[in-house]
Amino acid sequence: MFISKFIETKLIHGGVDGDQATGAVNVPIYQTSTYRQAGLGENTGWEYSRTGNPTRAALEALIAELEGGVAGFAFASGMAATSTVLSLFKAGDRIIISSNVYGGTFRVLDKVFKNLGIHYSIEDTTNLETLETKITPDVKAFFVESPANPLLTVTDLSAVAQIAKNHGLLTIVDNTFMTPYLQRPLELGADIVVHSATKYLGGHSNLVAGLAVTSNKELAERLAFTQNAVGAVLGPFDSFLLIQGIKTLGVRLDRHTENALRIARYLETAEAVKKVYYPGLPTAQGYEINKRQAKNGGAMISFELNGNYDVRKFFKGLKLISLAESLGGVESLVCHPATMTHASIPKEIREKVGITDGLIRLSVGIEKVDDLILDLNSGIQASLT
Ligand code: PLP
Repeated sequence: MFISKFIETKLIHGGVDGDQATGAVNVPIYQTSTYRQAGLGENTGWEYSRTGNPTRAALEALIAELEGGVAGFAFASGMAATSTVLSLFKAGDRIIISSNVYGGTFRVLDKVFKNLGIHYSIEDTTNLETLETKITPDVKAFFVESPANPLLTVTDLSAVAQIAKNHGLLTIVDNTFMTPYLQRPLELGADIVVHSATKYLGGHSNLVAGLAVTSNKELAERLAFTQNAVGAVLGPFDSFLLIQGIKTLGVRLDRHTENALRIARYLETAEAVKKVYYPGLPTAQGYEINKRQAKNGGAMISFELNGNYDVRKFFKGLKLISLAESLGGVESLVCHPATMTHASIPKEIREKVGITDGLIRLSVGIEKVDDLILDLNSGIQASLT
């Protein structure tokens, strides 16, 4: 067996490489719920597909290898992955979340886990000094995104993981925006990584899936137990699709991020644009930290138009880039965080952290960048009031 140290090769051959039984270069879709047992207590290692399925297991081995963890887990959505990880905590525990985590992460903590006695505090995880002072005895974990959704704020992941270790807390990182191709939080000291694999890992806007990986054997056992007990697992067909998507992650992200840098530079100089948020620009908050911990600035950009430009007209003026929820697909998408991805966050909290009504989030696809710039320009022209 060939073992590569390069992620580009691991994306294609990592985990379970093809099918041993037939030589098929793709892992087959084991579309089955159960497995015949030769006799009582005599099984093939597979018993029931909620507990384990060979296609899902191949995906789980692959993501564990890519993130550099000991075990991976695949779920029916990113929120199912996050919720299963949050189920590791108990009543009386508190989790500190970074101030602009994905709206759904906030919502599940605020509307579901809080009712079960698991509390949360929202803190600015980019400010390491104040962060340490927020650790009360009930705090059990940090849950961070870097870059965070949608203002692309960068948190120093190794510094946060070190603070967590000093206080006996877990560090959980939502790595959706970066993927292991650009950033590997477990190598920076995090304990658990979660993903909405619906995004870059799948890459084609054709599935909803979630993944979790841990670097810790004991946590891996608890996660395996909870995954099976809660049961929000990914089906075999979607596991297959996700493995296919991951194979091209490297080439896709090279193009996504090259386009994103070009567009961020264009927006930075556009007269209509008040502010650009993109961690790949040297003027961005956390640029140096991001450069240290990630391969580049990723492919998500947020920006605000000046007051005399109307965001509603901007969206109407676009012909190529679709207004849609989600991100990370080959096609470019725009969204309005205040009324879409972050609508579940109360207005006063939203505005306090900078998610204004004029903010636009752009998921840069892999189209020819000149077309994207042309389209953004039409949106801007249409939005002038
Ligand atoms: N985390 C981030 C950063 C996201 O953007 C999303 C979805 O938009 C999620 C988690 C939730 O993932 P899913 O929609 O697959 O449940």
